[in-house]
Amino acid sequence: MDREYIYHSHTRALCSKCGNLIDGKIIYNQNGVYILKNCLVCGEHSEILEEDYKYHLSKAKFDKYGTISSVQTAYREGCPYDCGLCPSHDQHTCIGIIEITKRCNLSCEMCFAKSGEGNDLSLEQIEKMMDFYMEAENGKAEILQISGGEPTLHSDIIKIIEMAKIKGFKYVMLNTNGIRIAEDEDFVKQLSAFKGGFEVYLQFDGLNDYVYEKLRHEKLAEIKKKAIDNLSKFCIPTTLVATIENDVNDKYIGEILVYGMDLKCVRGVNFQPISYYGLVAPGPNRITLSGVLNRIEAQTNKMIMTSDFIPLPCNVERVAITYLFKNQKGFYPLTRDRDLSEFKDSIGNTFVFTVEDTLKNFNEDSKIFNVCKCCDFINDIKKHLPKNFLLFSKQEKMEFVDENTFRISVSSFVDKYNFDMKSIQKECVHIITPDLKRIPFSAYNIMHREKYDKYYI
Ligand code: SF4
Ligand code: SF4
Repeated sequence: MDREYIYHSHTRALCSKCGNLIDGKIIYNQNGVYILKNCLVCGEHSEILEEDYKYHLSKAKFDKYGTISSVQTAYREGCPYDCGLCPSHDQHTCIGIIEITKRCNLSCEMCFAKSGEGNDLSLEQIEKMMDFYMEAENGKAEILQISGGEPTLHSDIIKIIEMAKIKGFKYVMLNTNGIRIAEDEDFVKQLSAFKGGFEVYLQFDGLNDYVYEKLRHEKLAEIKKKAIDNLSKFCIPTTLVATIENDVNDKYIGEILVYGMDLKCVRGVNFQPISYYGLVAPGPNRITLSGVLNRIEAQTNKMIMTSDFIPLPCNVERVAITYLFKNQKGFYPLTRDRDLSEFKDSIGNTFVFTVEDTLKNFNEDSKIFNVCKCCDFINDIKKHLPKNFLLFSKQEKMEFVDENTFRISVSSFVDKYNFDMKSIQKECVHIITPDLKRIPFSAYNIMHREKYDKYYI
């Protein structure tokens, strides 16, 4: 008798039941890619990694070396217990997250941060964390995400963003549920002073209340639209961030995209298949990264196709991205019909802004990925730029790029059910902790978060 699956690779996994570190096999069949675990205590079980095995197999050709970073902890008990970063970690910090408060004005069941009651970090503490992050990345830390809880509840939120800009973070993102943005126009006006390297990362799970009642226990559709109105009024670059759960809002993925693409202030959408960190287990119909991509293709009538996405070379397992450019007919994926894998070594180990940055600084000598082989790609992009683009001022280039490009990304985080060692060791989104460590976002939520509660009492 043959096996019912093809064995793909070996990994280390966490038992979905007892949480012990065990061996795992990555396998695939026509139904998708699974992690097969055999726990000596709890027996054999599996968890889906990707719905689309072809997409999964395509990741390998985009995979590349990680960037070595400084370490804060030693190798003692092994991964994922030694965070971090420990010497085994294979990627530097692309996005550093500082959770400035535990307070929140919502109480979502799937909240990573288990937010609600709690307290704020002091300005002094936050400054130490920013300095540490900058130093850990040799003074070149690029993206800082200010998060919580709900960070807009922190009484010093404006000072905190100001401080981040002064310290030289190239991009500062405010990760918010949008309630204050909807209700406090004066606050939004203050945020508009940070434009240029500042983005609002707006929780946005759909356009109807059914979705919000399911995911956030409140009717929030009107609040989200009001928040978008205020952000549009002050032209603040915004990324819509949608947590996607099967049978809740997976059928609205296309609708969210079309809504975002129509709005001048919206720079892109980031879809996040729901992760399971609390008491809720995934169940049989978990949505995966490639599941989101396939729904995008189906729900946009192939305007955007699964093949338009590339696994992000710095973390192929967990992030996919595409860039769209606006022409007379609408948005067009820059990545369409191109095998960008040969340029992977020239794509920096950084998260989302490579293409935008290059376009904003575009001049006669520009080469998107700095290698001559991609000249065709450059010429293709040039076709979409206005004839006098080279004469534009820096500000005009920035405005043109902001209004005419659109970024779609899918980030799928690791929980104890779909944990595989490679994914977590390549993770580049890191929590900057009050005791000055960097802990990969997924590892933090799986096993380290509770240790840090004492800083938020
Ligand atoms: S997740 Fe990374 S930092 Fe944490 S223990 Fe594993 S290798 Fe080390
Ligand atoms: S809005 Fe965000 S921080 Fe607040 S409870 Fe929901 S998920 Fe948690």
